[in-house]
Amino acid sequence: MKRVRGFLRTYKLFSLALAAGTTGLGLTLTHHAVLAHWLLGIVSLMAVVPLLWGMWQNVRSGAYGINLLGVTAIIASVLLGEYWAGLVVTLILTGGDLLENFAEHRAKREFDTLLARVPQKAHIIRKGKVVRALVNDIRIGDKLIIQTGELIPVDAKIIDGAASFDESSLTGESLPQTRQPGDRLLSGSVNLDGTITAQAMATAEHSQYQQIIKLVRSAAVSQAPFVRLADRYSLPFTFLAYALAIGVWLWSGQAVRFLEVVIVATPYPLLLAAPIALISGMSRASRYGVIVRTGSAFEGLAKAKTIAFNKTGILTRGQLMVKSIKAYSPFDRDEVLKMAASLEQNSSHLAAKAIVTAAIQQKLKLAKAKHVHEVPGLGVRASINGKEVLVGRFSLLEEYAVKTPATFKPSTVNHTAAFVAIEDRVAGVICLQDQIRPEAAGAIERLYRLGLKQTLMMTGDNKTTAEAITRQLGIEQVYAEALPADKLHILESLKHRPVAFVGDGVNDAPVLTAADVGIALGARGSAAASEPADMIIMLDDTRRVAGAYAIAKRTFVIARQSILAGSGLSLALMAIFATGIGTPLAGAFLQGVINIAVIFSALRASQITLNDT
Ligand code: ADP
Ligand code: MG
Repeated sequence: MKRVRGFLRTYKLFSLALAAGTTGLGLTLTHHAVLAHWLLGIVSLMAVVPLLWGMWQNVRSGAYGINLLGVTAIIASVLLGEYWAGLVVTLILTGGDLLENFAEHRAKREFDTLLARVPQKAHIIRKGKVVRALVNDIRIGDKLIIQTGELIPVDAKIIDGAASFDESSLTGESLPQTRQPGDRLLSGSVNLDGTITAQAMATAEHSQYQQIIKLVRSAAVSQAPFVRLADRYSLPFTFLAYALAIGVWLWSGQAVRFLEVVIVATPYPLLLAAPIALISGMSRASRYGVIVRTGSAFEGLAKAKTIAFNKTGILTRGQLMVKSIKAYSPFDRDEVLKMAASLEQNSSHLAAKAIVTAAIQQKLKLAKAKHVHEVPGLGVRASINGKEVLVGRFSLLEEYAVKTPATFKPSTVNHTAAFVAIEDRVAGVICLQDQIRPEAAGAIERLYRLGLKQTLMMTGDNKTTAEAITRQLGIEQVYAEALPADKLHILESLKHRPVAFVGDGVNDAPVLTAADVGIALGARGSAAASEPADMIIMLDDTRRVAGAYAIAKRTFVIARQSILAGSGLSLALMAIFATGIGTPLAGAFLQGVINIAVIFSALRASQITLNDT
């Protein structure tokens, strides 16, 4: 009952028109046709007033009223005595809000599911007691108790217990993930079995899930240029309809022809199909852990001709390991590793992590580095125990004109490597090893199948390693030994545009910003670290890049189909009714059918799955 009353209040005019229609039908069947016509005419004209008022407000706010043709149709219907046609048009116009609300609700369904699952409460251990608190009260370092079925309130680390977790709302990965003491938990995932104790690593505001929600909120209101373009066509379309309607009226001398053309002309497909498909597609993508910041980024990806990849952590696993160490006298291998690791503690580069891990495994005691300076894409410099130390690419060492031992030939180093210099001399070379991601080749192949023109890889690593990888993956072009600035130039020089770049949010920030579409991938593409990206793929899986491309492309195909089919049908009906075939009432029904069909056609984008081509 309450819902009925709510409906009546929200859709007053529609309800009134519906009631008038039913009563009118009753009156007609009981042979009171004249009375019925009066009722229909009055109610239709009553609806015109608020519709005109709404249009006037839209015109003033810069958006063109979409109901001009409809209002003309209602007035003309009443004047020509086509009361039933007038009522049907009134129902269509006043029911427009109803239809749009329904469409929006359906389109944003996945977004709403995400928003509904924001963690609210948590169990915190305070002074030895478990208390229930709001997630916003959690401080870094707090101990949390998380029971079966509960959401992880903030990003945390397990300190006791093990369990499996459903991370699907973050990554779209539906398989449960087992996590043990020491492992990181992301806010928003669900504890599936067993109670665990965890320590908060971030406040709620800075946790993964809450960051994603922030992005989703901004995405839902942004529109792509494509939408505005379709919007712009609705004005000429309206003019065309009027011109044709007046033309056939003058030519045939029958005013009813004017009415018929105006009734079947609808700008609805042009105005609504694109935004509905766009929101549906973006919302659907979020289900698979693909968070798109803006409608334009989504459109950019759909139209991308080239996708450029960074190497480390994107096409390779990014789990670098120290494979071998070469030392030059007077230094020994432990000394080289120790100095390098002491320096690398201060870098977030994946190579740095590997070097520190190796030193810890060797139980080396690390020293404190002072005056640390990192040159992105080159390496790090600092002073350790009063000694000047450099770690990074050979070109970094060259920049500082370090002396090279006689037996040292940098060109023979064909691995990913970090060169170490201590006090102006090359002290050693740390060779690192990474693995190609097993899924990457399949992802590249699928991208081509989806219609991509060009793939390329840009890396700061050496040529031999880089070429070996692109050869295995079927990537066309490779740019090795590139500095961050070179990567920007490469992007600019590319022919097939738009260009999407896939990198991590940490080291590739300038390139992510410069690319037409910057995509941050994986765990290191975490929401907080991905400020410069236009799009974030939460699951650390290269295949999701192809999946995101497929979803974006499919969305825009659906939008285009819906617009073309809808306005094509409308144009065809205009042509047919202009010849005098059909009645105003039939026209009004057909117009309503087109509008509804267009909405449902655009909503197909909310059903796209990752594997749709
Ligand atoms: P990619 O383009 O593949 O992500 P980067 O541009 O980040 O690679 O780095 C290129 C190369 O620079 C690495 O292969 C590594 O040899 C060197 N390098 C950069 N930063 C560091 C660092 N902090 N420690 C050691 N080597 C580094
Ligand atoms: Mg990188």
